Amino acid sequence: MGIQKKDITCPHCHKKNVWTEDNMFRPFCSERCQLIDLGGWASEQHRIVGDPISSANSDEFDESGSPE
Ligand SMILES: [Zn+2]
Repeated sequence: MGIQKKDITCPHCHKKNVWTEDNMFRPFCSERCQLIDLGGWASEQHRIVGDPISSANSDEFDESGSPE
């Protein structure tokens, strides 16, 4: 049903590559390029990983019929 093919270039080694559903390393040409690129990305932007859950909304629905 949704077979997509698209000419792409590996972001890491700039090798010509084809984007298919078969290519599990897309947009990279191989697992190696994917790992290298993702590894570099992760080590560079390591600080982005945090908890996006803010505790500011912890008091929602707190005033449902508060007696005096
Ligand atoms: Zn590559």
